Amino acid sequence: MSRYIALGVSLALICAACGSVGQVEKPGDLRPAWFGLIPSVTLADPAVTPPAGAKIAAPLVPAGEAEGRGALTGPRIQTSVEQVIGFAQNMRKEGNQMWGRISGFQSEIETAEWLKSEFQAVGLAGVQQQTYKATGDFWWPKTWEVRALANTAYGDQTIDVRLASAVPVSRSLIPTPIEAAVTYVGDAGEVSTDGVSGKIALQHTRPSTGAYSERTKVRESSQKLIAAGAVAVITWVEQAGNMHVFDFGQCGGPCFNIGGADGVFLSDAIKAAKEKNAPDVRLRLTLDAETKTGLQADNVIGLIPGTSSEIIIVNAHLDSWFDGAGDNADGVGVLVGLARYFSVSAHKPARTLLFVGSGGHHSSGMNGPASVVNMNPDLMKRVKLVINLEHLAQFRIEAVPGWIVNTDEEPKNFGISNSSPFLISTVKAAAERYGFAIRPEIVNAVPGDLGGYAPLNVARMQGIHSGPLYHTSGDTLASISTEGLERAARFYAYVIEAAGKASAAEINP
Ligand SMILES: [Zn+2]
Repeated sequence: MSRYIALGVSLALICAACGSVGQVEKPGDLRPAWFGLIPSVTLADPAVTPPAGAKIAAPLVPAGEAEGRGALTGPRIQTSVEQVIGFAQNMRKEGNQMWGRISGFQSEIETAEWLKSEFQAVGLAGVQQQTYKATGDFWWPKTWEVRALANTAYGDQTIDVRLASAVPVSRSLIPTPIEAAVTYVGDAGEVSTDGVSGKIALQHTRPSTGAYSERTKVRESSQKLIAAGAVAVITWVEQAGNMHVFDFGQCGGPCFNIGGADGVFLSDAIKAAKEKNAPDVRLRLTLDAETKTGLQADNVIGLIPGTSSEIIIVNAHLDSWFDGAGDNADGVGVLVGLARYFSVSAHKPARTLLFVGSGGHHSSGMNGPASVVNMNPDLMKRVKLVINLEHLAQFRIEAVPGWIVNTDEEPKNFGISNSSPFLISTVKAAAERYGFAIRPEIVNAVPGDLGGYAPLNVARMQGIHSGPLYHTSGDTLASISTEGLERAARFYAYVIEAAGKASAAEINP
């Protein structure tokens, strides 16, 4: 790493000299490295917190509600969110190039053990950490590198640049290093395949929301480029900072994503080489990846018995890519807050609540909710409703144009699988009551974790978003609104209370 920092320093010195007043370039002067372009050299999170002094609205607390609801307050929940993020950060500190709360790995086991102890501390009944076997294999990147190779034709003292934000795309394999010229092919969705054969293709995408919205076109363009003979595809995800973006899997060959600053550097270098008739920029790609079999992941369950034996499941996925603050440490934090709240006898629920921290959301073959259904047949017979807590309290970021961090939260797409009029009106009333941000139209699509619960044939609901930090290394604690955590917790407490008291026909008409 020191080598790259040294490069940054020497470039800065050279360019400072270039820019000084009265400087005339003489024969024999040093030409700046990399055509005078400045590489990023490190991963860099963009700003994800509203500007200092910006006013964040306090949570709405209707008269008479504050008392006894300490468990639902933002700072209390944020403590849990920080602890959950810590398990991912530990994996990074241990020197893993890829990190997160990864199902099948120690970081998720630690998260599950922590949740189990939280549930026990709260006094939930029947607390269990349930380990289940993967039903498929799991691709895992151990180490990798995307290196732009030096050529003195690009300027004196040009040295190799390692693109720090590069991250391989799921299922990529590079048994022996790939070294080839890199060519810019335009925007994903409309790439040119002319002349890509034998080369590494660099395509561009600029998400207006997050990686989720770019998924189909990036994957299809990648597959097209590989089919046209490209030896690898690099996708430049143009966003603020220089983030890892882990998405766009199954690209048809070896693929990497790079972040904003690295994309600017690489595309500018390609352009400059062309303009100055210098040799093409070449990259060297390495990847040590393995396909793991026989992994095990964990779910954690615990009950709060109600006056009725009928069950409402409250689920949050434990696993993440990177820190996963908004995906899904905030959901897990609210899960614990709700467990604390309903465990107080004054808040004893009408229906029984089954709290679930689930594994395998991000890992193929390790679907947590499906395993909850398979491993708990007696409990499952009693379930009337499933509520999934996911992506609850991230600040609203406008990625295009610019990068604006707002004081409110990302609006959630709210889905209710059976379009129950009672649930729709309850959700709308609760959103207004607590200022919980949802989009006006409530849909019946419930993608993600709720799929595993589909065999129960009961109402399933969630409010979820996929903003600019989706599956990026910038999804950090700083992006979470403490006030937003409280809005989410109060919203869901209200919905759970109302659904607890509703008739079975109102929930599942
Ligand atoms: Zn998620």
